Amino acid sequence: MYKFEIHLHTNNCSACAKSSPREYIDAALEHEYSGIVVTNHFYHGNTRVDRNLPWRDFVNAYIEDYLEFKELGDKYGITVFFGIEEGFAAGKEMLVYGLDPQCLLDHPEFLLMTLKEKYEFIHECGGICVCAHPFRDRSYIPDPNTPPNPKCFDAIECFNLSNTIEANEKAFVYSFNNKKVMLSGSDVHHAKAFGNAGIAFDTPVTDYPTFLEKVKKGDFKLIYPEF
Ligand SMILES: [Zn+2]
Ligand SMILES: [Zn+2]
Repeated sequence: MYKFEIHLHTNNCSACAKSSPREYIDAALEHEYSGIVVTNHFYHGNTRVDRNLPWRDFVNAYIEDYLEFKELGDKYGITVFFGIEEGFAAGKEMLVYGLDPQCLLDHPEFLLMTLKEKYEFIHECGGICVCAHPFRDRSYIPDPNTPPNPKCFDAIECFNLSNTIEANEKAFVYSFNNKKVMLSGSDVHHAKAFGNAGIAFDTPVTDYPTFLEKVKKGDFKLIYPEF
């Protein structure tokens, strides 16, 4: 199997993350993962990048960790793709796969788009939109039991390593009822927690279009710990 971690944060870009691209590459090699999608917190999330920067400078600073990660991935044989995690309502977040950084650089209006507009824009750019941890229960989330409109998502993150079992179970039911592709991600903020979640393909995936096609079709197995 060809394992991918698809929800991961690095320390120079996400304010809450502890590990560097180098530490995650070592963890990926140790746990025999073949790929990673880097999904740092973007503008409406817990980003470490200065939001007062002009737009292009903000995006360029945001992608620095990804570029470092990609260079290391090329060197050590780990496939690395660009993703983002962006907030769209209080405590509610989306994961975006397949969006080229250039699309962000060219479209500062992304910040002001509604959820539906973001979904349409991401599709126009060739990407897909995933609902991250829809039932996450935290003190800062006012409505943990109200999931967002499923029409604005191509897939749902059903297993999230840092969620409760109950929150993950609700996400599986929500996804099943809405006939959505189910995904698993660690939401890993420290390399020590790497290796417990993600998706596994039965053939090698080394380019982003193939990854996106397989994800859209649900052509993979979920990785999650045994309880
Ligand atoms: Zn975080
Ligand atoms: Zn996350």
